[in-house]
Amino acid sequence: MRKPFVAGNWKMNTDSHTSVELAERIASESMDVSGQVTLGVCPPFVYLQAVAKALSASSVSIGAQDVYYEPKGAFTGEISTSMLKDIGCVYCLCGHSERRHVIGETDELINKKTTAAIAGGLLPILCVGELLAEREASQTDGIVTRQLENGLAGLSAEKVSAVTIAYEPVWAIGTGLTATPQQAQEVHDFIRKLLGQMYDDRVAGGIRILYGGSVKPDNAEELMGQLDIDGLLVGGASLKADDFLAIIQAAI
Ligand code: PEP
Repeated sequence: MRKPFVAGNWKMNTDSHTSVELAERIASESMDVSGQVTLGVCPPFVYLQAVAKALSASSVSIGAQDVYYEPKGAFTGEISTSMLKDIGCVYCLCGHSERRHVIGETDELINKKTTAAIAGGLLPILCVGELLAEREASQTDGIVTRQLENGLAGLSAEKVSAVTIAYEPVWAIGTGLTATPQQAQEVHDFIRKLLGQMYDDRVAGGIRILYGGSVKPDNAEELMGQLDIDGLLVGGASLKADDFLAIIQAAI
């Protein structure tokens, strides 16, 4: 019922040449699975247009790694939803852990971005996840609850259907440590139940919950085998065409 979704987050990597090269390989070698899986890549802002062109004949969508919530004006360095729509963006990451913990984004800011993204016609991928110390202190459920309740505050059931959730335990991002499939499933199940309480079971059952955190070709299949893992948000391994393509195969 929930179509698998694999998204690549290129973070602050690639250049004008390698971004297009990577996109071209993903486009051409994912053609035969395009009906079975939703695919997206999130390149750096400056390469979005070139990557969009490289992906234009494929079913791979482009996403932004961030967005600002104001529509336009004196916000130096920021990018609006309409700018992203204008160049063909479909998705937008909101609240990635590096924006939360490196840049210092708050739940309130992330909520404004998520809300603006939906209003502007983008599909937000709202990222949530606990730090290692929080997991060790058994605070995972509380942290994820706070991030989801605040991140989705004010969004109706209709609007929240545009959102994909990505559970990304911070201790597993870029570290080579992956949550075990059982650890990930436990949190995904918790998130779905929480969405059921915040909205209803029908809404919760329709929202895709991706797992992210050191996903690799050799752990993707087992993660995808879990009941509530509907897809994967892939960082490092999405920069290698062979690995990303293998992860896509594992997800279907
Ligand atoms: C990410 O950037 O969202 C991510 C999960 O990174 P990695 O796969 O490198 O851990």
